[in-house]
Amino acid sequence: MIASVLFPLPLPEAFDYAVPAALGPLAVGDVVICPLGRRETWGVVWELREGTGDNLKPLSARTALPPLPEASLQFIARAARYVAHPPWVFLKSALRLGPEAATPAPEVLLEATAAVTGKLTPARAAVLGALAEAGGRLRAPDLAARAGVGPAVVAGLVKAGLLTRRDCPRDERFREPDPARPGPTLNAGQAEAAQVLRTAVAAHSFQPVLLDGVTGSGKTEVYLEAVASALSADPSAQVLVLVPEIALTQAVLARFEARFGAEPVAWHSGLTAAQRARAWREVASGRARLVVGARSALFLPYPDLGLIVVDEEHDASYKQDEGVPYHARDLAVLRAQVSRIPVVLASATPSLESLVNAESGRYAHVRLTARAGAARLPEVQLIDMRTEGPPPGQWLSPVLVEAVRETLSEGGQSLLYLNRRGYAPLVLCKACGHKLKSPDTESWLVEHRYTGRLVCHLTGWSMPKPAACPQCGTANSLIGVGPGVERVAEEVQALFPRARLAIFSSDTATGPQAVRDLIGRMERGEIDILIGTQIVAKGHNFPQLTLVGVVDADSGLKGADLRAGERTWQLLSQVAGRAGRADRPGRALLQTWSAEHPAMQALAATDRETFLSLEQEARRDMGFPPFGRLAALILSAPSAEAVDAAGKRVAALAPSTDGVDVYGPAPAPIAVVRGRHRRRFLVRADRTVDLSAYMAAWRARMAEPASVRITLDIEPYSFL
Ligand code: ADP
Repeated sequence: MIASVLFPLPLPEAFDYAVPAALGPLAVGDVVICPLGRRETWGVVWELREGTGDNLKPLSARTALPPLPEASLQFIARAARYVAHPPWVFLKSALRLGPEAATPAPEVLLEATAAVTGKLTPARAAVLGALAEAGGRLRAPDLAARAGVGPAVVAGLVKAGLLTRRDCPRDERFREPDPARPGPTLNAGQAEAAQVLRTAVAAHSFQPVLLDGVTGSGKTEVYLEAVASALSADPSAQVLVLVPEIALTQAVLARFEARFGAEPVAWHSGLTAAQRARAWREVASGRARLVVGARSALFLPYPDLGLIVVDEEHDASYKQDEGVPYHARDLAVLRAQVSRIPVVLASATPSLESLVNAESGRYAHVRLTARAGAARLPEVQLIDMRTEGPPPGQWLSPVLVEAVRETLSEGGQSLLYLNRRGYAPLVLCKACGHKLKSPDTESWLVEHRYTGRLVCHLTGWSMPKPAACPQCGTANSLIGVGPGVERVAEEVQALFPRARLAIFSSDTATGPQAVRDLIGRMERGEIDILIGTQIVAKGHNFPQLTLVGVVDADSGLKGADLRAGERTWQLLSQVAGRAGRADRPGRALLQTWSAEHPAMQALAATDRETFLSLEQEARRDMGFPPFGRLAALILSAPSAEAVDAAGKRVAALAPSTDGVDVYGPAPAPIAVVRGRHRRRFLVRADRTVDLSAYMAAWRARMAEPASVRITLDIEPYSFL
């Protein structure tokens, strides 16, 4: 046989190897070690075909890892095609294990080799029967014991070639979820929604379902029902629940544990290499049945995936912008299609993409309108900063300050939301007007008071705050302009010196443990006023939170981002939805300079339909997603001249096709990052065009030197 092996390395294609007879039967998906150049490395058998392979190098070994299932390989190939990248990029995600994973302490298990023709002795038949019953793999002594035969019978089957030895990693198993444990009694709306999901699970076919319900309406309980039915209907089925990385906290895992009696397998960037390897192997062997993970959990090699849930499906962090740009929600739908299973997209503020799919009937649409139990939607009120704003140098309007005071005196919690880390987003010299920029990036430096540094939020570059202006040399002339969370905290501290304050941003919540600590303190009522960035807008449940103040509700509306309005709407509804989850009513106050903006008006009226139909109309007029498709092509090079020359060459190579408009190259809004100059193309296509194929064809024509970096982004979310 000849094996075509795909490596998780930037190589243009799979390479052919001869399969030595000594390796035994090999299958597509097996993880193998092969000589590559002067070293040995691992890859996956991508294809197998007949042939002598006389002039090919032989494969070296098969690893002890379980093979990648057929559905995983298909998914890798189709996902790669969709994002117009070669398949190795996703094979790399699928094999994201440390080197120690290839050599775990193995255990030799026996597997049936082939279908048995001919007659078997009763003892031999008992062995094969026991093996099949145990799921197809056992240690030799266990197999003999289960079949009630002596070790010689098992050894004889191995000798006859009916059983094969396989080295399997020895892993501690995760506890099994128990889907039979009862959940809460669902209210009528929830019960109806759960029934739709259970029917979809029972149908064993591809079916996306949009589970659309206001914050606190009990969506999670509803999809947990679907998870339970998928797990109980088929004893080998696996379920994947995707959540935004930041939501992957102990509280979320604990909720699954409370429902199913066992903590799910968590998959996120905080795992150690050993934890990652264990989780990978348990998923690949089919033993891990419930995975709750961040977007990369999509690439785990599930042999029998039965259901996918994407929680907070609108969340922008599902779009990966670094490395290979992909959207985990879109790929989750593709993954479900490959395995012909249902996929549930849950959100209180669904993306326009999913809503349009639901309205057109491509997705089933399940709505929950009432809040579970007694909790009511918060009352939303706009504070017009033009007439009700704070005195100069302050950021909180008198109305908001008064509301915080009332909440404090009632013993409730307040959340002040401002999506700006640090103390001040801009530092300038009051003597000469110089604005401090990062040395190699076109972005303003942000003042951080707690660390005393000026930080570039794009690259992380930082320096101590200088004592004098670097431009004119005037001492003590640098001032921070505008508010960040630290500055708001300073103002709150001065107003309410006895209140217990905390800042919740990626600077204070620097890891999963810190996030958990902060959330825990908030849940236990140990914080009176929480001042947070968008990190607080995600799925936390703070029952004593009754006031949400949005310090700058307009910030998301600025900029030339296609989804700016939609995102502001989502974020504000989510933040407002934090208030009044338990039996206390909540209210949300939004400080805005554009009270007449449709997003603000719709929020104040909690009128989602009007807001979204305005958005839809605008996008339909321009042929933008979801009514058309977009792709971005970003070039970067060490100098402006080099990137402009590359831009000209690349532009000339764009295939011409009906229904495709190519705009650019134009300087990117952030024209220089880490010393590299950037130019962007934006490609818009009608829905009937295969934009992935178009971009791949264009990309294949480009022959730029290595100094020019080319990034292809299908359905871009960032336009910077
Ligand atoms: P969502 O996911 O829509 O924000 P959740 O499922 O988290 O809503 O429910 C909000 C709160 O209400 C949670 O504390 C949850 O435990 C509770 N809850 C939801 N459904 C029920 C129910 N049927 N009976 C009792 N409590 C419920």
